[in-house]
Amino acid sequence: MSNVSICLFCQIANSTIPVKRLAENDDALAFPDINPQAPVHILVIPKKHIASHADAMPEDTALLGNLLAFAGQVAREQKLENGYRLVINTGPDSGQTVEHLHIHLLGGRHMTWPPG
Ligand code: AMP
Ligand code: ZN
Repeated sequence: MSNVSICLFCQIANSTIPVKRLAENDDALAFPDINPQAPVHILVIPKKHIASHADAMPEDTALLGNLLAFAGQVAREQKLENGYRLVINTGPDSGQTVEHLHIHLLGGRHMTWPPG
């Protein structure tokens, strides 16, 4: 696990680093990705530090479910009626660069499959 005190997304969650807070509740936050890969590219994170999806523990089950539901709520607010893609990069093979669990919410254009 990376050092929570210097974790980028922990610092965003606790407002040390300011971002446009698009939606939030006690456990989750949504904010725009700084390097958007689609017309809508939002990151959805738990406020609790979990380094990756692979580091989520059985006691995080409710949090994970709530995070997915929260991402759906954000997608609805963004009016992505034509669809969207949720991505959770996990570990080196996936290209994960920030070691704090996050869901990419991508939309506003047609997505190709398979992803690169
Ligand atoms: P991943 O590669 O799946 O770990 O995704 C990390 C994402 O965080 C990338 O899409 C980056 O563009 C994004 N990112 C990095 N720093 C920031 C930041 N300060 N604010 C918003 N998004 C960021
Ligand atoms: Zn963190």
